[in-house]
Amino acid sequence: MSSDCIFCKIANKELNTEFIYEDDKVVAFNDLSPQAPVHFLVIPKKHYSSMNDITSKEAFGDIFSAIPKIAEKLGIKEYRTVVNTGVSAGQTVFHIHVHVMSGREFTWPAG
Ligand code: 5GP
Ligand code: ZN
Repeated sequence: MSSDCIFCKIANKELNTEFIYEDDKVVAFNDLSPQAPVHFLVIPKKHYSSMNDITSKEAFGDIFSAIPKIAEKLGIKEYRTVVNTGVSAGQTVFHIHVHVMSGREFTWPAG
């Protein structure tokens, strides 16, 4: 837990954010500023500032293995997943999160 981290506060249920999924390692919730009809974030409960801070396969497994379960629950089969790592890549919240977006066409390469 990092006391000044907004996503730690969310994971810790301090902000009353509604979870669309929770297990013992991760939570998922809708993005405050959705970029697609479906746009949620999957975060580990444990604080890692970015992808670069994750050293265990288990942490990646916990985060990514939750995604198809959530997708099934929401009834979505096609979706874009994005992890921004570092300021130049667009990271603004320094608690690792995977964006999952669906419900529209996506272009490639991402901008
Ligand atoms: P990043 O730019 O770091 O990849 O993504 C951070 C995301 O977190 C942004 O899409 C932003 O809209 C979202 N976000 C930031 N603060 C909050 C918040 O307090 N609640 C929710 N639900 N999303 C947030
Ligand atoms: Zn955090």
